[in-house]
Amino acid sequence: MAGPGRAGQALSAMLLLSAIGAGTYADRPQPRSIRIAGEFRILAADFHLHSSMWSNGTLTPWGLVLEAERHALDAIAITGHDELVDARIARRFSRWIGGPTVIVGEEIQSQSRYHMVALGVGERIDFRLPAAAAVDAIHAQAGIAIAAHPLKRFDGWDAAATKRLDAAEICHPTIYQRERAQEEFEAFAAGASAAAIGSSDFHGLGAMGACRTFVFAADNTPSAILDAIRARRTVVYGRDGTAYGDPALIPLAERARLREAAEEWRSRGGALDWWSRVAGVIGLFGLIVGGAERPASHPPLRRQQSP
Ligand SMILES: [Zn+2]
Ligand SMILES: [Zn+2]
Repeated sequence: MAGPGRAGQALSAMLLLSAIGAGTYADRPQPRSIRIAGEFRILAADFHLHSSMWSNGTLTPWGLVLEAERHALDAIAITGHDELVDARIARRFSRWIGGPTVIVGEEIQSQSRYHMVALGVGERIDFRLPAAAAVDAIHAQAGIAIAAHPLKRFDGWDAAATKRLDAAEICHPTIYQRERAQEEFEAFAAGASAAAIGSSDFHGLGAMGACRTFVFAADNTPSAILDAIRARRTVVYGRDGTAYGDPALIPLAERARLREAAEEWRSRGGALDWWSRVAGVIGLFGLIVGGAERPASHPPLRRQQSP
């Protein structure tokens, strides 16, 4: 009777162990490579991450910093929903460990039907503001305003707001989930003259940095990165390897093999990553179900006598 149950438990444990092994290998940290193009350093950045503190992500602010290291990101922005605290914690932690540059930011989830990422702000932006006024409020703090996933259904954008924007997301994970998303982002960008941004809007599932922005900055300080976005010095690769961004920088990006780098990070892990997830779920399920059935096959526990 106990034989098949125990064999099942052993198989589940083996599956779980192989999942942990495959996951650890697929997620092994990669060295950040320093890329130079003329007077600029090319930085790989992800400007839209959510933590588990007040922002319904699954990783802590320090967990996000460590995950960014694993994904060879030079710079990240932690963008809590209408708050800045977790970004400040992550910035302190990353300075302490010599990790990637952390830019303090927030994602404004507006009542006026737009989502906007504010980078480099010190005070929260009022989410009740219409989009154009929110952009002005970000600029008043010398921050950068980025349209977050500007799909058609976010209809809070008017011409005044899009004209004022510094940047707009053109690569966001939805382009790999919905056929029309890339076109909708392109249509938005066409009316905005904004820097191209690739962001993963990472909440814990999916891959951080799968959509990333290559920033051509003087150095890796937050102010140099914000200056580069202001000057529209970014290149982003979208679906099918389409390049977006500064037309003068795209040839430099090609020469630096950024297209290949973007594709590698998007498809990173591949079969190993898939196995890690599937075997992990099956193994864990097997252990839980097996564990729940076990007490019935054991003699009742005797009450411990005190000596
Ligand atoms: Zn959003
Ligand atoms: Zn978001």
